[in-house]
Amino acid sequence: MSKIPALFGSMVFSDAVMKERLPAETYRDMKDAIRENRSLDRSVADIVANAMKDWAVEKGATHYTHWFQPLTGITAEKHDSFISPAPNGGVIMEFSGKELIRGEPDASSFPSGGLRTTFEARGYTAWDPTSPAFIKDGTLCIPTAFCGYGGQALDKKTPLLRSMEAINTQTMRLLRLFGMDCESVTTTVGAEQEYFIIDKEVYEQRKDLIYCGRTLLGALPPKGQELDDHYFGVIKPRVSAFMRELDERLWELGVLAKTEHNEAAPAQHELAPIFSTTNIACDHNQLTMELLKKVADRHGLVCLLHEKPFAGVNGSGKHNNWSLTTSDGINLLNPGKTPADNSLFLLVLCAVIAAVDENQDLLRISVATAGNDHRLGAAEAPPAIVSMFIGDELSGILDAYEQGVDYRSHRAPYMESGVGVLPHFRKDTTDRNRTSPFAFTGNKFEFRMLGSSISIGDPNIVLNTIVAESVRRFADELEGAADFDAAVTEIIRRTVAEHKRIVFNGDGYSAAWEAEAEARGLLNLRSTVDALPHFVDEKNIELFSRHGVFSAEEMHARCDIMLENYSKIVNIEALTLIEMVEKDVYPAVLEYENTLCDAILAKKSTGLPVSVKTESDLLCRISALGDALYEKLGTLKAAEAAAAEKRGDALALALHYRKSVVAAMEALRAVSDELETAIPSEIWPYPSYGDLLFSVK
Ligand code: ADP
Ligand code: MG
Repeated sequence: MSKIPALFGSMVFSDAVMKERLPAETYRDMKDAIRENRSLDRSVADIVANAMKDWAVEKGATHYTHWFQPLTGITAEKHDSFISPAPNGGVIMEFSGKELIRGEPDASSFPSGGLRTTFEARGYTAWDPTSPAFIKDGTLCIPTAFCGYGGQALDKKTPLLRSMEAINTQTMRLLRLFGMDCESVTTTVGAEQEYFIIDKEVYEQRKDLIYCGRTLLGALPPKGQELDDHYFGVIKPRVSAFMRELDERLWELGVLAKTEHNEAAPAQHELAPIFSTTNIACDHNQLTMELLKKVADRHGLVCLLHEKPFAGVNGSGKHNNWSLTTSDGINLLNPGKTPADNSLFLLVLCAVIAAVDENQDLLRISVATAGNDHRLGAAEAPPAIVSMFIGDELSGILDAYEQGVDYRSHRAPYMESGVGVLPHFRKDTTDRNRTSPFAFTGNKFEFRMLGSSISIGDPNIVLNTIVAESVRRFADELEGAADFDAAVTEIIRRTVAEHKRIVFNGDGYSAAWEAEAEARGLLNLRSTVDALPHFVDEKNIELFSRHGVFSAEEMHARCDIMLENYSKIVNIEALTLIEMVEKDVYPAVLEYENTLCDAILAKKSTGLPVSVKTESDLLCRISALGDALYEKLGTLKAAEAAAAEKRGDALALALHYRKSVVAAMEALRAVSDELETAIPSEIWPYPSYGDLLFSVK
């Protein structure tokens, strides 16, 4: 354990390494450029590049790559070696400022939603000096933004950085009004990551897991998660060895992996990092997802990041803990001891409340994927309805503002365990609410609707921009106010009156809430396809354009890409299911039918008065189910074929997949799962849910 401080960040070209390795003047220039938000001079970049290269080569690196996050939602890299021909015929290791600052990876096959066509394929990667370079698998990775020739964002990082600028600009206006003279405000994020770990041998026997990352078939095992014996349970030795190595690999890369524990479902786990600035948190979450998969593989395991790998078992999400911090380290969402008197905190809180209420659609869209559709609203994850939990104390304070009365605080009660030796401590003033999609948790908000496999880029682009917009309006009003304190009180009062419908402190999983939410006029965009088209609503285009986060063109492109992505995923799943049923399930059904026929004939041929009732009943049941399977398969194939007619219209196609194909897949699966319970395991072609969920020791 003593080596951990030395291990931590050892593969990162961190601030400390830069300070040590760069000439003092270059280091200062670089820090100034970052602080002043301007790009670096070429001569300075040359020096930084050379120092980076020397450091990387000492650590054994031979290649470098511009590491970027295209709209596929994962990361991309194209490796170049450092070698350059030397005049004497040998080679030298070289890396110039030009190579550091800018790359032209071509990369024309990434989704661009028509922002660039492949024949005019210029796409550029541009160094993001706010996220440190690192070495991974012998390659120096330089975090970059990816843009088209005209500067259009083709990735998740560019708009994220723009949104961070937007919220910085607006919040600084507010802070100046409060007489605070910090340099900047940044958003901070800690992304808790859920995942499943299963045995690789079992995984390799399932086409659905290999092609789709989730099971498309599978009857429930006799034991699921009902005993809650996995949640926070003792970690199994193989998983524990995997986690230990994972931590070390993450620490080397400077990822602050902090806690790991078993989650609710069997084979499900969670990793929580210590929070950092949003941009770095986003890069680190991508690295975490990549390493989860790689390290699992080295241990004969497979990490499933899909939102719903197993039907009937809890799926996986990501919790995006989000807050705002000044460059002096003040957390603007920290209520302090007396929140009722902390008007800056209350204003920021109100900015978030207004933002969430006005932009329920955008928050829902930012987590909309085919995989997440299986989770949201399924009594294991928040509903598809966006609401906020702020707890009783803050609700009480805001109510008092709305009614114009003084708030009387209730001191937090002492914890009474009934055991004298246990420590005596004050309880938190409110308990947690685990069912809320957007919960205030003491000094940050926790957005809990994210699916486990997505980039946290999109939700944070939305969060930063929508809060920037409400802060902008508050700042406009306060800058022009004659009586500042009265104006602050009025903004808080009005925000509560206008937006309190979004606050819900009760059980978000209950059916009653769905009805109440409807009565309150809250949106309920049940599926991805219901949600996505709203991305390009007039209100949203105006919002993102105003803050310079997306142009209308970029938004239309993104909307098309998201819709196409949905259709592609469902299409792959449907084709995989068809293949599994035709090639594996059907033959198993026929084989069992033959076995039963043979048994009946064999018994009858003895001429003895033996009953063939069991065999006959079984045969009739299997045969009827086989017919049903055949019919449902036909429906799915017809639905798949009909998709061809909708090509060319992204929305019509996605709607078709959602309405016809997904439904046909579910119907087919139901019959197959029933057959699985009736057919002997030696004949059934796939490992069962029991094998998948309980085989890692
Ligand atoms: P919990 O509230 O779930 O008990 P923690 O307080 O440890 O647990 O926080 C959970 C996650 O929230 C962690 O990833 C943590 O780093 C992150 N977090 C804590 N404070 C902040 C903050 N100010 N901004 C963003 N994320 C934060
Ligand atoms: Mg959490």
